[in-house]
Amino acid sequence: MEENDISKAVEINSSHVKVIHLLLLFLFMWQSLYRISNAAFTLLLTFFKRFFSLMSVYLGLSTLHQLTEIMPSTLYRAKKFLGHPEDNFKTYVVCPSCHKLYTFSECCKYENRKKVSKTCTFVRYPSHSQARMRKPCSEILLNQAKTSSGTFHLVPFKVYCYKSVVVSLEQLLNKPNMHTL
Ligand SMILES: [Zn+2]
Repeated sequence: MEENDISKAVEINSSHVKVIHLLLLFLFMWQSLYRISNAAFTLLLTFFKRFFSLMSVYLGLSTLHQLTEIMPSTLYRAKKFLGHPEDNFKTYVVCPSCHKLYTFSECCKYENRKKVSKTCTFVRYPSHSQARMRKPCSEILLNQAKTSSGTFHLVPFKVYCYKSVVVSLEQLLNKPNMHTL
């Protein structure tokens, strides 16, 4: 097949969709197992799309070109492809001891140019007459986790995910065929 033919618009074939579906399921499982960041995951998707697109032209493989045409290149599109669009959940870090909520950025500080975890500042009895009862919780909020590449990064011991009822209802009502339920 000519290169010009390859670059023409392609029809979405159900078997192609299944192949990409399988690939994305594996990649999401891999991301979850090895705690790969969303940025690294997106970079890999973009690389796959460009690399396989280049190979399809270089080798003259129209089927591979059709696959790369439907292959998503962003995390949002990948989730949408699998039927799981952006969930819009806001994630909070939870203190493992007193369960106070923090945003992730509130839990980090730099010591000697190294990013480390802060401790919990919650005081259960701020007006108590005894000084020992006015002490903060002081629990460490983030754990130092080792990645598969040997580097360390901070991850919460516990997280709390929140989405407003209004947004949840909007997503539910916008689902296809909702009126038939
Ligand atoms: Zn605490």
